[in-house]
Amino acid sequence: MPKKKPALKTRPAVLPGVSASPGIAIGKVFLMPDDHFKTEPRVIAETQIAPEIARLRNAIAGTRDELQRDGARTEKKIGKDNARIFEFHRLMLEDEYFLEEIIAVIRNQRLNAAAAFAEYLDRYAEQLGNKDKIFRERAADVRDIKRRVLQHLRGETTPFLEQVTEAVIVVARELTPSLTLASDRNKIKAFATDLGGKTSHAAILMRSYGIPAVVGLHHLTGMIKNDDRVIVDGDKGVVLVNPDRATLARYRIEKSKREAGIRRLGRLRDLPADTSDHRHLMLAANVEFADEVGAVLQHGATGIGLLRTEYLYLNSSTLPTEEEQYQEYHRIAAAVKPQPVIIRTMDLGADKCSPCLDIPPEANPMLGWRAIRISLEKPEMFNAQIKAILRANTDGNVKILLPMISAIPELEKALALIEKAQRELDHQRQKLAPKTEIGVMIEVPSAALMADAIAERVDFLSIGTNDLVQYLLAVDRGNDRIAHLYENLNPAVLRLIKSVIDAGHSRGVWVGMCGEMAADRLATPLLIGMGIDELSVSPFDVPEIKKIIRRTDFRDVQKLAQKALTFSTTKEIAELVRQYMRPRFKDISI
Ligand code: PEP
Ligand code: MG
Repeated sequence: MPKKKPALKTRPAVLPGVSASPGIAIGKVFLMPDDHFKTEPRVIAETQIAPEIARLRNAIAGTRDELQRDGARTEKKIGKDNARIFEFHRLMLEDEYFLEEIIAVIRNQRLNAAAAFAEYLDRYAEQLGNKDKIFRERAADVRDIKRRVLQHLRGETTPFLEQVTEAVIVVARELTPSLTLASDRNKIKAFATDLGGKTSHAAILMRSYGIPAVVGLHHLTGMIKNDDRVIVDGDKGVVLVNPDRATLARYRIEKSKREAGIRRLGRLRDLPADTSDHRHLMLAANVEFADEVGAVLQHGATGIGLLRTEYLYLNSSTLPTEEEQYQEYHRIAAAVKPQPVIIRTMDLGADKCSPCLDIPPEANPMLGWRAIRISLEKPEMFNAQIKAILRANTDGNVKILLPMISAIPELEKALALIEKAQRELDHQRQKLAPKTEIGVMIEVPSAALMADAIAERVDFLSIGTNDLVQYLLAVDRGNDRIAHLYENLNPAVLRLIKSVIDAGHSRGVWVGMCGEMAADRLATPLLIGMGIDELSVSPFDVPEIKKIIRRTDFRDVQKLAQKALTFSTTKEIAELVRQYMRPRFKDISI
């Protein structure tokens, strides 16, 4: 008999998680059983060894065919980039070395195929899970493959969602690409899961499908049963279990307001990000994975203000070649042209490690061997990336951005290497745009204080507040315990930003911002007032930030910013901005 679940309290439980895909959904729970995939280890007879190995080989072959079909289906529905994950899963199953190791366990330990396979993959997933965030998310891919092969070993081929007859909210231990594949809008309203992070492949797929998802809810599957009613709020990253009538009514209104808002925001797409008194701002989008490029244009951004290139280095034990990178950058540049794409050179290290770079453990990785520091120590690797970027600039819309610059000699070294790469390409008579602009991320306090000297040497500055705030306030950006101390509106942060903007302007270069603060609704009027030239935010934030810009009077917010800069606490500044915004932005939650 399955254990009875504890009854839920009547008051709605608001469970905080991580928003993986925006949107609000209200509906009944379909609980995806997890123990379904448990395997019992069994000792098999000598005569069973060969048939058991054959069964495993068949199951793997069947899974590979299924992955091919799923990839083709996904490609048809949401494009080639999104389908690549299934190809990646298929390739994992083609690795003979890995199969041989499992077969050796079946043979030597006389273990049944399902248990040998499951144990091997669990161990691999656990090893990945012990590493950094990106690897933890790759562990989800490994578990997904495990589930698929086990299903084949049991001869089950009917996807679980076929049991679903009405649209439901799927609650599962983990969001996986194969789960999301079944994401028929008519059957699945939203996902809520115990595990997972924002950058998992499945989360990216969900965003492409436009299905709300909240992940990282820890014990949700243990607290909930089939047919419970839940609200998944993918905007705020929370799930409400068995909400009371008042909460339900409030959310229904919120949901329809949101839908009407999206319809209205769609109309904003082709309008410029100009203030009401005609000061033009560039409003670009940040891209972390290539499959987000479509969303940039759909949401009306003026190009890509930050292309994080780390994804090319993750999941691989070898460095991406110049040619591979060139193909990728060129494809992206062609997709957004004539709008710009600002390609940031590799920013690995700290919380993003890759098997292709041997980064030894460090006591303080955030202050350690990362980003440009690695690039400068590995000039061949840097050269390949720079050449790929320069070559991709066939239409003049590609720019280079250097991360984590902390001193002028470091910048000069990077600039010299870029010049060398340019000369080499000239010798090879490569057809390049006459100039590729170079910018520096201002994300280290020393760079912020030296912004004038940096601006003299480059074409633009882009303020990376995610790191700048953590280094300035000495608050680890990933530490929940002290998250309340991480303040975009801290007076020290604002003063430093203002000085960077002024320094850039005094040297005739434009100054943008690509950290999360660029999408902080309360910061937007202040940033405009301080004279920021560009904001780069996640594609989904573009419409609302554009709305704020277009409804803002530059002269008003100049005064607002001046006043804010005289205050000495975050609270006073936040209150000042709220007072300014409340009457003007009733439809925006601040
Ligand atoms: C930043 O630090 O603000 C930034 C945009 O870079 P990342 O978040 O990739 O460190
Ligand atoms: Mg950074």
